[in-house]
Amino acid sequence: MNDKMKELLGGLFVAFLVILSSVIAGFIYLFILLKSEYIAAHDTLGYMIYLVTAGSIYCILLILFRPLVRYKMIAKKGVNSKALSPLGNSPNENVQKLLEVRDLKIGFPVIRGTEELYIQAVRGVSFSLNEGEVLGIVGESGSGKSVTTSAIPGLLPKNAVISGSIRFERTELAKTPADGNSAGLPEKELRMYRGRKIGMIFQEPGRSFDPLQNMGSVFYETFRNSDPSITKEEARVRAEALLSEAGLGNAGERLGNFPHQFSGGQLQRIGIALALAGIAQGSGLLIADEPTTALDVTIQSQIIALLKKLRRTRGLSIIFISHDIDLVADIADTIMVMYGGIVMERGTTAEIIRSPKHPYTKALLSASPGFGSHYSRERLASIPGRVIDPASPGAGCPFAPRCPSALPVCSADIPKLLVQADGQEVRCLPEIIGI
Ligand code: ATP
Ligand code: MG
Repeated sequence: MNDKMKELLGGLFVAFLVILSSVIAGFIYLFILLKSEYIAAHDTLGYMIYLVTAGSIYCILLILFRPLVRYKMIAKKGVNSKALSPLGNSPNENVQKLLEVRDLKIGFPVIRGTEELYIQAVRGVSFSLNEGEVLGIVGESGSGKSVTTSAIPGLLPKNAVISGSIRFERTELAKTPADGNSAGLPEKELRMYRGRKIGMIFQEPGRSFDPLQNMGSVFYETFRNSDPSITKEEARVRAEALLSEAGLGNAGERLGNFPHQFSGGQLQRIGIALALAGIAQGSGLLIADEPTTALDVTIQSQIIALLKKLRRTRGLSIIFISHDIDLVADIADTIMVMYGGIVMERGTTAEIIRSPKHPYTKALLSASPGFGSHYSRERLASIPGRVIDPASPGAGCPFAPRCPSALPVCSADIPKLLVQADGQEVRCLPEIIGI
């Protein structure tokens, strides 16, 4: 069954739920009408009871059958989402570009045994992000998601060799060996600039904290980085407000606690509060690198809900990284699929979910519990073969050795990025993707 068919079935199911709720509410209304003379004499009250009952039944059915209507919901979300910000001109001229990454290449010289190798972690990645947009980055382990995004706030190790451009609010942040600090800012100022504009949260929040330092002191130190004259009392008040915003109960009392006294979900909330510590309301970028991978599904959905709320209330832009395309689709406006250090496909969430073009994106979707098996009882597909060695990636498409549609030419050269009229980008041959 193709995606259009699944979406149509999702739509029909929603219509069926509406009719079912109306019929059940109708019977309840009739029953009340026969039993109560007062309601029979007051039409408006009767209609209101009918509408409230129908609405409540519909909501309950929708929650119960959420997985079955998901295709429909994702499609709708994509239509409402902001326009894709392509590398060239944005189709929506009113939306400001926050971040522009162009031809980013990152490598690491390493020694393996007696051999000197050069790891090509990122091989020419370009993308942009509009203000207020949520960009999801998906791809298997080792595809270069963390290295790409760690370069934005300048968190790569010293031995990283970087080239290309990272422009944030039109200020160049990339420090490349060729042109030194092309932003022209001294290193300290550049760090301060990033701290005020860009926050980052990681997969295992517990590991980011010193076990011997209580949370009050962690916040005090963080605030002092940008404001050395801040008093302990001022820091306490600000920390309490941030923690409450991040949804941590009894925030004031908990500032005296140490990391081991918090659960994983609570530590992630603290991590989010710390990432936002220097960022002013109404702007800023939060990079969330697999922030929910170490958490159970209930806490995972609470953290996703918190990020969605912060996006709304703070006007935050978010880069959300995960290997789980189902999770990314839940929060992102646009999705970028990476593999072997390059971008394979990029488009709005609805486009990627409804009509994935690259064989790798299709493989990721059929391997996802969310999208691979909602409408069938078939087993989930796995992607055969192994991820390429970044020390010797070869000249061709990195996915070619595992791709069911690969042609001999795919192993010779990396295919060009095809940009379609709606902005969707695919790095594959037209004869394979059929356009
Ligand atoms: P995961 O989903 O497992 O987090 P990822 O997509 O985030 O994977 P990256 O961490 O970006 O992958 O790594 C991309 C490649 O760069 C990997 O092959 C990794 O081994 C390599 N790499 C990352 N950091 C370094 C480093 N400091 N030195 C050498 N190689 C590195
Ligand atoms: Mg990673």
